[in-house]
Amino acid sequence: MWSEATKIGEGRRGLMLMVVAPSGVGKTSLTRRLIADHSDLHLSISATTREPRPGEHEGRDYHFVSRETFDQMVGEDAFLEWAEVYGNRYGSPRAPIMAALERGESVLFDIDDQGARTIAAQAPGDCVLVYLLPPSLAEMSRRLHARSQDSEEVIALRIARAKDEINRWETFDYVLLNDDFDRAYADLAHIYHAERLRRARNPWIGTFVGNLRGEEI
Ligand code: 5GP
Repeated sequence: MWSEATKIGEGRRGLMLMVVAPSGVGKTSLTRRLIADHSDLHLSISATTREPRPGEHEGRDYHFVSRETFDQMVGEDAFLEWAEVYGNRYGSPRAPIMAALERGESVLFDIDDQGARTIAAQAPGDCVLVYLLPPSLAEMSRRLHARSQDSEEVIALRIARAKDEINRWETFDYVLLNDDFDRAYADLAHIYHAERLRRARNPWIGTFVGNLRGEEI
C-alpha cells in the first residue's frame, strides 16, 4: 500500500506558488494564513536591502542585508531572481527553494509580477501564478493611507504600478478578487489543493497504476 509518507519526497513534486498583488490588497494576511494551515508549504523569505518596518523581523519577513552583502550574493548566483523595486533590491534565495522542492514540498512567493515571471520562465511547469485584485483602486489607496507606512509619493507610485500590473491580468493562471477575506482565502486554498493533486506533480501514481495492472485477483 502507498501511504501518505510514500507520496511525499520522490513520489511527489512540489510547486512554486506565486501570489502577486498590489500593496494594500491584503496579500500578506491571505498568504500567511495559507502557510499556517499547510505544513508542506513554506514561504520563500526574500533578501532585501530596505530597512525593516516596525513589526518586521529578520528571517520571518525578510533577510535584511546590506547592499554589499546583496551584491555579493548576486555575484555568487545565490538568487533565483532579483530586482530593484522603489530603489531597494529584493531577491529570492535559491538554495532553500530547491531544497523544499526536492523534499516534495511547496514554496509560496510573495514577490512582484516581474520576479514571478522571471522564475516562471525558468521553471514553467513548477509555477502557478495567482493575481489578487483589489475591490477598487480607491479602497487600495484607503488601505495604504490607513497603514501609514509610505509617503504620498510612494503611495502614488504603488497605485500607478497596480494599474500597470492589472493590465497584465490575462497572463496569470488564476485571478482572485479580494473583496471578502474568507472567500478569497477559500479560493486560494482550493487552488493550492488542486494544483498539488495534478497528475504531473504525482509521479507515484504511475508506479501505483503499474502495480494495480500487475495485480492478480
Ligand atoms: P515591500 O518593500 O513593500 O515589502 O515590497 C516591495 C515589493 O517588492 C513588493 O511588490 C514585493 O512583492 C516585492 N518583492 C519582495 N521580495 C521580492 C523578491 O524576492 N523579488 C522580487 N522581484 N520582488 C520582491
